[in-house]
Parts: sequence; C-alpha cells; structure tokens
Amino acid sequence: MMIDISNLLIRKDNEIPIDCEIIYTSEQIDLNVDRIEVALSGRLFRQNDSIFVDVEYKANIILPCSRCLEITNYVLENNLYDMLCDSKGTVHEEMENLLNGHGFSIKEYLLDDLIINEDSQVLCSDDCLGLCPECGINLNYEKCTCEEMSIDSRFSALKDFFADEGGVENGSTKEKDV
Ligand SMILES: [Zn+2]
Ligand SMILES: [Zn+2]
Repeated sequence: MMIDISNLLIRKDNEIPIDCEIIYTSEQIDLNVDRIEVALSGRLFRQNDSIFVDVEYKANIILPCSRCLEITNYVLENNLYDMLCDSKGTVHEEMENLLNGHGFSIKEYLLDDLIINEDSQVLCSDDCLGLCPECGINLNYEKCTCEEMSIDSRFSALKDFFADEGGVENGSTKEKDV
C-alpha cells in the first residue's frame, strides 16, 4: 500500500491524513503468525520544509500459542514518528527503501516495527498447560495418563534395580535414567 506524497513534495499540501487498515497474511511476512490486522491513524506532514510521518497503530497478531499451538490473539500498540526527508529533499537513510518516487510504502514501514516488537513467546493464557510431550493431547481440555505411566515405569525400574542389588545400602538411592 503506497501513499502518494507528491503534493507534500511540491508544497501543494502540508498534510496527508492516514486512516486505514492493513492486513498481512502469513505468505506476505516471514513470521510465525497466521495473520496480522492493523488499524492505523496519523499523518504525513511538512514542517520546516522537512517531511515527517507520525502514526499510531493497534495490531491484532493472530498466531499459535507457543505451548498448546491453539490460535490466539495478541495485541500490539505503538506510536511511530520519523523523518522521511529533510529540508534539502534528502531522503533519510532508513527511509530509502520505503520511498519509491513519490510513493511512501506505509505497509513496509509498519512491518519493520512489527518484526522488531514481535514476541515469539505468546501464550493463550498465562497458565496454559500446553501439550502432553508423550501423546500430544491439549492438556487445557483433556487429561491423559502419560505422566502417571512414566512415573509408574520409573518406580518399577527402581524396584527391579533394588531387587538386583539386594536392597538399599547406606540409605542411598539411585535412579536409573529413563
Ligand atoms: Zn496455550
Ligand atoms: Zn499424554
């Protein structure tokens, strides 16, 4: 999505309002997300012959919980303020790849910020129980007996061990690696 800033460059306008929604799909971005929906508002404006961008955004980042993989929604809000070009018309270094002729790519501009602030450890809830490492069941909804069984097998391994050794000596206990 490009915003035409030619009227700012030729001093016809002093301000271009920005009020829009941008959606990024997982194919468009190199992040472990399903989708990002961003509502943004702000403006591009001229001040002392320099051109600035000033926007605030609220992003709904839809991604799998990092414990149970259930799709969850994470909200990120931020304010962005940058100079696009100075009074001599020199494009600011960090903005070079966002300006294409008279077009400013607001979508790329936001994406850079989303990538920096993306939290890869998002949970569906703070006390998410995650998936059972043995059978893969979602422990938030169902119970399984994997943990009990692995404790049982450790006990029986211990029992066998003591049986071989003829009992506990010096009160020390050893546990076999399972
Ligand atoms: Zn979860
Ligand atoms: Zn299990």
